[in-house]
Amino acid sequence: MFEISRRDLVLGAAGAYAAFGLDRPVTFIDAACAQESVTQPFRKYKVGDIEIFSLIDGMGDAPLREGMVRNVGLEQVKTALRAAGLPDNQAPRRFIVMALKLRDQVVLIDSGTGGHPIYGNGNGRLFASMAAAGLDPKAVKTILISHLHGDHIYGLMNNESNVQVFPDAEIVVPSSELKWWTRPGVESIDLGPTRKGLAQRIQATVATWKNVRPFEGEPELLPGVRAVQAPGHSPGMVTHLVSSGGKQFLISADVVNLSPHIQTNPEWQLAIDQDPQMASETRRKIFDRAVADKLTISGTHWLMPNAGTFAKDGNTYVFSPEASV
Ligand SMILES: [Zn+2]
Repeated sequence: MFEISRRDLVLGAAGAYAAFGLDRPVTFIDAACAQESVTQPFRKYKVGDIEIFSLIDGMGDAPLREGMVRNVGLEQVKTALRAAGLPDNQAPRRFIVMALKLRDQVVLIDSGTGGHPIYGNGNGRLFASMAAAGLDPKAVKTILISHLHGDHIYGLMNNESNVQVFPDAEIVVPSSELKWWTRPGVESIDLGPTRKGLAQRIQATVATWKNVRPFEGEPELLPGVRAVQAPGHSPGMVTHLVSSGGKQFLISADVVNLSPHIQTNPEWQLAIDQDPQMASETRRKIFDRAVADKLTISGTHWLMPNAGTFAKDGNTYVFSPEASV
């Protein structure tokens, strides 16, 4: 049975600055905003004339286990969770699909879990969240994929038949990612339980579909939307930088899977990252860019609201969630 987490965020004044090792409180979102996060299936942001949506595909928790962060002990992880006002026996696990409204076109960034059982019960709510946000799945003409993990692409295909869910949309995929997942012998590499069978399924679907457009480098994929390389979590992962009206919003996919509402140290090496060292370097680079360019930044697996800004305080990064419009 699916259960919404008791406390879907927020940094309470009591714990947060202690968690970050700061001597004063950071910025907090207000109570109304926090309340909304538990009940609202979507959030909406504006970047110039582009609307950006955070759509909940699933919300749940995963059991906490030693080794979840490779180079940090379990007690330290628990301390960070408590300091963020969360229970210390489980890791919050969110699946959030981002969408853009560019004039009359709806663009999805990734496609969620498709309700695949490997991600637990209660996921696969993307269409319900789109309906709540007033977005018609039939209006989706482009889907930008960050990387080819199941929780980002299984929403593109039927769980039993693999039939396409969006056959009329163009699916834009980083070619290095596609190459990696289709190279000979990849299916025999053990990448953990949630990636079991993934390579075969990619090879049977995305790799054969005619409506897939692979790309190299960091091109402008759509007017106002540019790919930004972010390898580590997956070998060819990209993020998507949305620019309009002098504002910028980076949709950062899985640059960090442990929500920055809980902690922001880029050196925490998550077991879920395929190349932890490279993932850490990418994370630092992206966090620094977010600070320097005053980006609003979102993440797929962050607590809601899953968008905000980073500031630097000595060696520490501080995350402030942003209120939606
Ligand atoms: Zn993911």
